[in-house]
This record gives sequence, C-alpha cells and structure tokens, in this order.
Amino acid sequence: MTLLEVKNLKKYFPITKGFFRKVVGLVKAVDGVSFEIEEGETLALVGESGCGKTTTAKCILRAIDPTEGDIILRVDGKEVNLAKLQGEELKPYRRYIQMVFQNPYTSLNPRMKVKDIVGEPLLVNGIAKGKELEDMVAELLQAVGLRPEYMVRYPHAFSGGQRQRIVIARALALRPKLVVCDEPVAALDVSIRAQILNLLMDLQEQFKLTYLFISHDLSVVEHISDRVAVMYLGRIVELARTEELFENPKHPYTETLLVAVPKPDPDFREELRAIEGEVPNPANPPSGCHFHLRCPYAKKICEEVYPEYRNVGTGEEPHYVACHFAEQLTLRGIKIS
Ligand code: SF4
Repeated sequence: MTLLEVKNLKKYFPITKGFFRKVVGLVKAVDGVSFEIEEGETLALVGESGCGKTTTAKCILRAIDPTEGDIILRVDGKEVNLAKLQGEELKPYRRYIQMVFQNPYTSLNPRMKVKDIVGEPLLVNGIAKGKELEDMVAELLQAVGLRPEYMVRYPHAFSGGQRQRIVIARALALRPKLVVCDEPVAALDVSIRAQILNLLMDLQEQFKLTYLFISHDLSVVEHISDRVAVMYLGRIVELARTEELFENPKHPYTETLLVAVPKPDPDFREELRAIEGEVPNPANPPSGCHFHLRCPYAKKICEEVYPEYRNVGTGEEPHYVACHFAEQLTLRGIKIS
C-alpha cells in the first residue's frame, strides 16, 4: 500500500526588496516534485546541498507551507491531503510523521534529562504519565540500544552516536508511520555511521517503519534504501530502484554523484569525471536542462529545452529520468557490494 504520495510539490520563497518588501523574484526551492513511498519502504532523496531535499521534507512534515501540490498520507484506512490542512486540522496527523535531524548535538535540549526528552511527546499528547511514562521511555531506550538507567542523565554525558540514538528514540515515541531521516549520520564519526544505519534498519523491521532518507552522499544510502530519487535544483532528475540506479545510472548528474561512493577499485574514480562547478542559483536557474552548465554530455538542445521526466526502464520496475539523451548515453555505474 502507498503510505505517502507527493504530487507536483512546489515551494517558492519570495525575494523581496526595499522598505515595502516588494517581491522581485522567486527562489524555486522545490519545483514540481512527485513521488510515492510504499509502506515499509525506504526512499532516499539524494543531491548536493541546496537541491531542495530538506525543503521537500519540511513541506511533508508541514513545518512550512507548500506553495502548490498535494501531500497525500494514507493511515488507519483514511486518506488525507496534508497540503490542504492548516493549524489545528494538522494536529491529529503530526504523530504519524516524525523527523530525525542531522545534528544530534543541537537537536537535544541540553537542560533536559533524557527521560524528559524522549517522554515529552508522550506527555504532551496525553499518552502516558508517571510510572507508565517512565516504563515507555525505558522500552524506547532499550529499542535503540541504550540502557534504561541512562534516562536520568543529560545529553552532554553522551557521545555523538548515543545522542543520535536518543533522537531516534524520541522520534519513535509516538509510533510514527513515516520517519524522515535528514542526513542522520552526516555529523557522526565515520566509525559509528554504520552502527546507526544498522539500527535504523533493525527498527524499521521492528516498528514497521517507512523512511524518507535524505542524504547528500549516495554511499550512505547504498544499503539502507529500496529506491533512490536524485534531486537537482528543486526537481527530481532520476528515480529508480537502488541497485538499478547504482549499476545503470541514466542521468549524468547521478553518474557524477557516484564518484563519491568509495570502491575498492582505485581506477574507478579516475574513470569517472568529478563534478565541476557549483549548484546554480535557484532564483536564476540556467535555461533548458538545469544541469547543462556542468554536464559533460550537454548538446545544443540541452541549453534550450528542459528534458521530459519519463520512464526509460526496460524491465518491470520503472526507471524515471529527465535527460534528453538517457536512451543513448552509456554511463558508468558501480556494482553494489
Ligand atoms: Fe546533460 Fe543534456 Fe542530459 Fe541535461 S539533458 S543531463 S545537459 S545531456
């Protein structure tokens, strides 16, 4: 069953000028993004910083108002379009979508004990209090691999990896259906990244979770995601099953992102061209294909016409891509280990 359906989502931020804050332009942070996430699935949203992935997540969480589009959530036999709800109307649905933030050092209140941090959502929503609340916090801490007696400690007593476990325990308190993980291991030491990724995968099974997993780094999503959507300048440019996207990329931008994936073959990186240049300004995107200024395969048409986002998959599974030459280019992928 499809848990979440995002249709033609747009988020434009106005650029204002002068005393009267006249609108002189728009930053199209998210510009017509569509995807679905099946129950129990992990969809990775990947792209360089500034491509719109976190803004997409904030719209889904309704931390910000989308400019246009639909965010359809299907829970408990009901279907609701979150994009059309406001204020109090959103309240009953907030518990179904929780977020794990990037930085466990800033996302925990240093003046609160762990039991208050993890227990707060349960208390605020009137789910438990007193001894029952404490028991539930203990259970959550155990689920994320922390000892229940740690609940009386403050966040400063924990390492980065342990703090991220506390953040995850808090996110699970309300038994969400969808967890948005925004770069959950980016701020952590490389040695403990795998532990947190493994924990997220174990919890997915245990709590029947669905993940939207945001990362700038394809290597992080290699093992955790079922499908990957690659974003560039506010739009999805490629979406396919993880193995297919890694081994048979169809968009030149995806090919360049694969350079960052560490592989044992030392020649591999040299064979791929490292991506050049900065992400263009979303307030003033290039004409035609937004990637054409950085694309090694760009031709005249790329400067003039935005490529159609279409299914080029040859098997049963769709493989969506927005590149004029997706069918002709032979891009270099990598084998998933
Ligand atoms: Fe490159 Fe042209 Fe394809 Fe854009 S449409 S990715 S510029 S080849």
